[in-house]
Amino acid sequence: MMTRLYHHPVFAEHLTGPGHPERPARMAAVEAALEAEAFQNLDRALATEGSLEAVYRCHPAEYVRKIAKATPEDGLTRIDGDTVISAKSFSAALHAVGAACSGVDDVVSGAARNVFVASRPPGHHAERATAMGFCLFNQAAIAARHAQAVHGLERVAIVDWDVHHGNGTQDIFWSDPSVLYVSTHQMPLYPGTGAESETGAGNIVNVPLREDDGGDEFRDAFTAKVMPAIRNFHPDLVIVSAGFDAHHRDPLGSLNLTEADFDWATAQLMAAAARDCGDRLVSVLEGGYDLKGLETSVAAHVKRLMTG
Ligand SMILES: [Zn+2]
Repeated sequence: MMTRLYHHPVFAEHLTGPGHPERPARMAAVEAALEAEAFQNLDRALATEGSLEAVYRCHPAEYVRKIAKATPEDGLTRIDGDTVISAKSFSAALHAVGAACSGVDDVVSGAARNVFVASRPPGHHAERATAMGFCLFNQAAIAARHAQAVHGLERVAIVDWDVHHGNGTQDIFWSDPSVLYVSTHQMPLYPGTGAESETGAGNIVNVPLREDDGGDEFRDAFTAKVMPAIRNFHPDLVIVSAGFDAHHRDPLGSLNLTEADFDWATAQLMAAAARDCGDRLVSVLEGGYDLKGLETSVAAHVKRLMTG
């Protein structure tokens, strides 16, 4: 069984304006990462647009309408301090949702062993009814709900190693013990949430790291907190909110992870998925704003996903 990659040209057509870190060139960096010989056997699939029905499982229709209405015919619209949309942004966000849900379909049907979704905009800051932090729809959360609603999976674990806390995912599943949300992130840092004391219905596990922490601290936290939480939860599916902005080169965070750390964490989660849920793992791109760091980190992550 293979690793499938979802991509689509529309992900590079979501424009955010000059100087914005969450920029189309991120997609070129991901493509460059996956051009190498080592990725010849990666099964490449074009994302399809996700359904509104899938989106409505996490975001109210009124919120979705608001984003659609705010979409400009050309130029840019700023919907909060750092979240900007252009003519193709709504379509890009819907394709990101579609790809994440297709990824779930694939790992449930056995069409793929695991999946990497190379999409933008990212999603983990999008709360039920608030777009923020470059995010419109929370595709990792929507994919989890899709797995439950469409495939009848009961328990979904979302693991988020983006340098920022996924306040949106935490908000959506705050009182829902059927979804485990585990996050490592730098704290203090945007968006300000993610303290260890925020535990929801016992299904939220926040593992804050400190500025300048590196691979040792990350791996210790992963081993001591993240992996036991997953082990105790026994998920039917693992979803990764794979942000690569904890990389040492990244301008938006001050953690010092390397490609080797992302490779290691990927292997850890694959082992958890192998033990509990027949390898079912869907990884969705979140942040990662240094193009070189993003490129090398994605390469390490996907290479690991492809190993047997
Ligand atoms: Zn981030």
